Amino acid sequence: MAVKFSQMADVYQKLECITSGNQIRALLSDFFKTVPLAEIDIVSYLTLGQIASKYEDINLGMAEKMVLKAVANATEQPANRVNKLFRKLGDAGIVAEQLVGKRQRELSAREVFDTLHSIARTAGAGSQERKISYLSRLFTAASPLEARYLARIVIGQLRLGAGEKAILDSLALAYTGSKTAKTMLEHAYNVCPDIGIIAKTLVNKGLKGVSKINVQVFRPVQMMLAQRVDKISEIHRKMPGLMSAEEKYDGERIQAHAKGNTIILYSRRLDNITSQFPDVVAALRASIKAKDYIIEGEVVAVDKKGNLLPFQTLMARRRKYDVEAYARKVPVHLYVFDALLVNGRNYLRTAYPERRRTLERITKEGMIVKLARRKLCEKIDDVETFFNQVIQRGCEGIIAKSCAPGAYYTPGTRGWLWIKWKREYQKELADTFDLVVVGAFAGKGRRSGTYGALLCAAYNPETDTFETFCKLGTGFNDKELAQLPRKFPAIKQQPKNVSVSRLLKPDYWVAPATVIEVLGAEITKSPLHTAAGGLALRFPRFVRYRPDKRPEQATTTKEVIKMAVRVYTELR
Ligand code: AMP
Repeated sequence: MAVKFSQMADVYQKLECITSGNQIRALLSDFFKTVPLAEIDIVSYLTLGQIASKYEDINLGMAEKMVLKAVANATEQPANRVNKLFRKLGDAGIVAEQLVGKRQRELSAREVFDTLHSIARTAGAGSQERKISYLSRLFTAASPLEARYLARIVIGQLRLGAGEKAILDSLALAYTGSKTAKTMLEHAYNVCPDIGIIAKTLVNKGLKGVSKINVQVFRPVQMMLAQRVDKISEIHRKMPGLMSAEEKYDGERIQAHAKGNTIILYSRRLDNITSQFPDVVAALRASIKAKDYIIEGEVVAVDKKGNLLPFQTLMARRRKYDVEAYARKVPVHLYVFDALLVNGRNYLRTAYPERRRTLERITKEGMIVKLARRKLCEKIDDVETFFNQVIQRGCEGIIAKSCAPGAYYTPGTRGWLWIKWKREYQKELADTFDLVVVGAFAGKGRRSGTYGALLCAAYNPETDTFETFCKLGTGFNDKELAQLPRKFPAIKQQPKNVSVSRLLKPDYWVAPATVIEVLGAEITKSPLHTAAGGLALRFPRFVRYRPDKRPEQATTTKEVIKMAVRVYTELR
């Protein structure tokens, strides 16, 4: 029997009330077992609060205001009453729930899913009204509880405490008895970050089918990440033998996919950012000679002479309008460094030296596209010399890449095949952390009227929660300080996936959506914070915003523990 949306709402309500990861997985897998095979993909998407995978450019295009209008239409309430209630409650889901009356008719999950797609497809003149009318028809049919989750899905705030990993684990639990299934699903999801495809393949073709899921042009792969060390000499211990020290550019990672004349650029968040870089697209067309390809590189701002400029300069290119003018104002280079697929051949399980050779074979360097500069090193002294040279050139540091036969491209994994070494590491005790803002404290004195400090958290993927790690008040310039309340608007309630200590409740809650880079000096135990059961970053300092990262790509609590252990071992 087709899944009813009311069944999903019931499961979501239960999920909202539990925090234990195991219980969440047990509940979800019991539910998944009841879902007909043909609908497992839509149920998986909706449970993640999506209607398609992240990389597909499918957006509902409805902000809170429009959702409230749809509620007003459906319930025949004056708009100002709905808005007033929203100001009081601060959650469009609860507003919808309180105003929607008894259920008029049964909604199927499929009908909700299809209608949301119709909303996403609606564009052009009068589209706002048509979107609102689609949604209000759903609200008219829905029960109060269904309305709660419908509103939250539309504004992208479903947040049930069940993230990608919990859903993958629950699928594994529901459809296989095997322990290796979880790892296999996770790997497949890194190669193909589309929960619908993974779920459908698992139920139709089993684990064997999942193991065959492969890279495909125009389906971005989760990007391979680099580990870090405390001393440059450690690189050699972790990566014995020949290594390639590559310049580490301070820009934005790009995964370029091409087939025929079509080129799509994906960001590290797997967003389609092609329209931001028309100059890069044209340059790729001229520089890369292959029938089809997936290659990676870092796009970095340069001055007229081609000198490298910092990340902040590149950020001026993040815009919807005046793209061409800014392409001229802020020229860029694209330093390509990896090949994942070329002329139909998948290179994920090909060692780095051959991937690089393949990349060199298809690349004709031009004004914009260049090969990442590197030096093959056997001794750590050579690495150090190269590091000092690249810092002079304006690089952020180096990435050492293993040249061993097993140095494959490992999607979505922070492993020891790539090790980064940045200039900050030489100055400070600890590395920078990419943290998520979850709250704020009211400013006093000179800072009254703005925030005095932000509450920042690391991410725990096991439980899909943000655990607080530091209170951050330094490193902002005056302009940044003044903009904090606008950048981080307060919300009414503590989000379910944010864990704070009783001793450190912020004055304002902030939706965990923005990643910032923070430099710290030391990690200590502290009852004030919840990261990894009570670790805190001392003397944190704001470095910059990281709009290229999704909250789930922030520093994990596991990484925090690793760093802490290293620091303590050093001290002893
Ligand atoms: P981090 O963001 O500090 O974890 O450093 C890893 C990032 O460095 C990657 O995601 C890339 O965006 C960037 N990067 C810059 N140059 C290179 C390079 N030559 N090879 C790989 N990654 C690079």
